[in-house]
Amino acid sequence: MSRVIGLKCRECGAEYPAIIQNTCYECFGPLEVNYDWDYISDNISKEKIAAGPKSIWRYADLLPVESERRIDLGAGFNTLHHADRLGAALGLKELYILDESVNPTNSFKDRVTSVALSKALEFDVKAVGCASTGNLAAAVGAHAAKAGLPAYIFIPGTIELGKIVQMLVYGPHVIAVEGTYDDANRLASEVADSHPDWAFVNINIRPYYTEGSKTLAYETAEQLGWQTPDHIVAPLASGALLCAISRGYKDLERVGLVDGADVKLSGSQPLNCSPIATAVQNNSEVVPVRNFETVAHSLAIGNPADGYYAKKTILDSGGYAATPTDAEIIEAIHLLARTEGIFTEPAGGTTVAGLKKLVESGHIQPDERVVVYVTGNGLKAQDTLLKSLQRPPVIKPMLGEFEQLVAPKFDIHKQQEIAPLART
Ligand SMILES: *Cc1c(COP(=O)(O)O)cnc(C)c1O
Ligand SMILES: [Zn+2]
Repeated sequence: MSRVIGLKCRECGAEYPAIIQNTCYECFGPLEVNYDWDYISDNISKEKIAAGPKSIWRYADLLPVESERRIDLGAGFNTLHHADRLGAALGLKELYILDESVNPTNSFKDRVTSVALSKALEFDVKAVGCASTGNLAAAVGAHAAKAGLPAYIFIPGTIELGKIVQMLVYGPHVIAVEGTYDDANRLASEVADSHPDWAFVNINIRPYYTEGSKTLAYETAEQLGWQTPDHIVAPLASGALLCAISRGYKDLERVGLVDGADVKLSGSQPLNCSPIATAVQNNSEVVPVRNFETVAHSLAIGNPADGYYAKKTILDSGGYAATPTDAEIIEAIHLLARTEGIFTEPAGGTTVAGLKKLVESGHIQPDERVVVYVTGNGLKAQDTLLKSLQRPPVIKPMLGEFEQLVAPKFDIHKQQEIAPLART
């Protein structure tokens, strides 16, 4: 007996064994993992989960990896913060943040990569790889190092220096491709096609890979005492993350771990590159965009692989999508840091800025229980933040200089202007 029957086409329902394959031979629809839900329901329990590892692998019964040989750097089991100060600032009564910046390589991509690389070992592949907007590269680099496998990573050359430094440290083959992520992804897909014994986590083993993000929903529900939120907000790039969170909540209902999974799902995408969010707002087709530029590099995908399904998932759930500007994204990074002590990269700024806009527009109600997924760490995008911060003032190591600095701007004793402490 096993929990995975194989793969199944999301469009025509054609079934396949569990192989390295991401599209249907019959209709070119995307394949997804086909589980034996009766088997899973019989084997899963809250007690078993509670006694499991303090990582995504506590939910192994809901993941497509069956061997015990896991590539586990400890992704997941992150704190769901009660964000009361940010909630108050935005006018929300019950706001939570799942902080993904504390994963092993500082983004939620460790979840999907841990699942994908563990599955790749089952397939006995010779190498692994990915196309990345930055964070997946570090996650694949780190997990490939742990697995002892060579990795081939295709990135657009324009991403943040911090992300490039981090991915290089793990020693993978990093190839910067001229153009955008979409160009890097097209090349990586051709490479995957010509090397059938290589596993490209977000290409030819994508059906298994995306399952890792379901654990964001599991973790949220577990920390809410096996309840679901009313509304979640997630960033959108390819759309895979949001679709997986949706499946995660539905799984919990299906196996009886929660009573209902009536969760509204809303997304946020930077205005300058927003094919999915724009389609949600206009209830139109997802039209790929080209020649975009945004500070939110990890969300800069012009031709989103799961765009159609992400838009449908959002609208079917009763959610909506926001499109903050780059300036609003940077402002939201500061707001989150200054209210909750969480430093996120522009993807997280996009999500928080989106949350703010959705509250302002009435798409999120003040009394809803809202969970926001903050997916990446601000230390990776320091170059982006520099422009919005002032250097600290330099003084001599003398008490008088300090007192002068923090004194009221107009000091009647001195009758002169004193520079204020640098603030932004
Ligand atoms: C990749 C990424 C996303 C978006 O994920 P998709 O599944 O492509 O929609 C969001 N936030 C961060 C930090 C990412 O690295
Ligand atoms: Zn099909």
